[in-house]
Amino acid sequence: MATWLRIPSMKVTEHFRRAKSTLFSIEILPPLKGASIQSIFDGIDPLVEFNPSFIDVTYHREEYIQRKNRKGELKRVKIRKRPGTVGISAAIQARYKIDTVPHMICGGFSLEETENALLDLHFLGINNVLALQGDMIKADGKFIPHPDGHTYANELVEQIVDMNKGKYLDSELQNVDKTDYCIGVAGYPEKHFACDDLDIDLVNLKRKVDAGAEYIVTQMFYDNQKFFNFAVRCRKAGINVPIIPGLKPIATKKQLEVLPRIFYVDIPEDLRKAVEACKDNDAVKQVGVEWAIQQSKELIDFGALCLHFYTMGRSEQTRAIAKAIF
Ligand code: FAD
Repeated sequence: MATWLRIPSMKVTEHFRRAKSTLFSIEILPPLKGASIQSIFDGIDPLVEFNPSFIDVTYHREEYIQRKNRKGELKRVKIRKRPGTVGISAAIQARYKIDTVPHMICGGFSLEETENALLDLHFLGINNVLALQGDMIKADGKFIPHPDGHTYANELVEQIVDMNKGKYLDSELQNVDKTDYCIGVAGYPEKHFACDDLDIDLVNLKRKVDAGAEYIVTQMFYDNQKFFNFAVRCRKAGINVPIIPGLKPIATKKQLEVLPRIFYVDIPEDLRKAVEACKDNDAVKQVGVEWAIQQSKELIDFGALCLHFYTMGRSEQTRAIAKAIF
């Protein structure tokens, strides 16, 4: 472990074990390329007083754009618009002494690139990762794996577990340093969009847990009953690791259409009507906060170990919710 950096890196599961009440965690995304890391700190600073147990940092894969080459010809090139997950994770741990959970994705990575990224994190003293398939490149229309990479998150979990056992891709390496990752994975109370049936999706979720994932963070949802049903069905399917609800307060009228389309989540009728009745997005934000406070209270009563907030770098609503709850 990188003790010289004097950073904490406690495993997420250790936070759960030590918790005396429901924990608070947040998720941020790297800024667009060219922006300063200060924008990340500005999004975290207002939330520090609520003691987030860990901060997830998303990973964003490459996208296609049209760009002129030196000869002035328009060419389709792949670029990463939000790089920096590893560096941001290390910078947050060093600055705030709060554990980070960088996301690792299958898409766009060969097995070797995955191994190298995991080594970077290991050398930086980061012992948590969330293992994901990763979003497709929009222009591809479906998820296309790297020719030398993983297709599904359970395969990525297996690779990380192998490294924890000291098994690297090059089996001839001698005296290898074992990594020590606590691995989380994603779950979908309203089913993953690419799967026809929630029961099959749960079989696939169980594959990730059987491979070594120690906890699940869910996709956002606005109807708690969907989360409660999901938790019950997970237990029936033999998935016994902690399930952490993911929450994202609604902030604009446009999200009534965007969130179901992008994240395949339902907006309950009461919430929809309340948002539609708002005269502007300031009023929508207030409705979003009140809805999330109510969700949070019920989830705490249900026994949620931790509430995970998708802040997307904007802290105002999450701060208002945290003030009321933590
Ligand atoms: P998987 O678990 O691999 O599942 C994908 C689909 O394949 C599902 O339909 C599943 O049922 C099916 N499946 C799984 N395993 C198998 C198998 N072995 N055989 C056949 N079918 C299988 N995206 C990003 O790009 N970057 C991020 O940082 C990011 N963070 C996220 C955080 C959370 C908490 C969540 C919920 C999602 C996040 N996403 C992120 C989005 C995620 O990458 C997409 O939802 C992706 O489409 C699925 O990822 P997964 O890890 O759940 O995939």
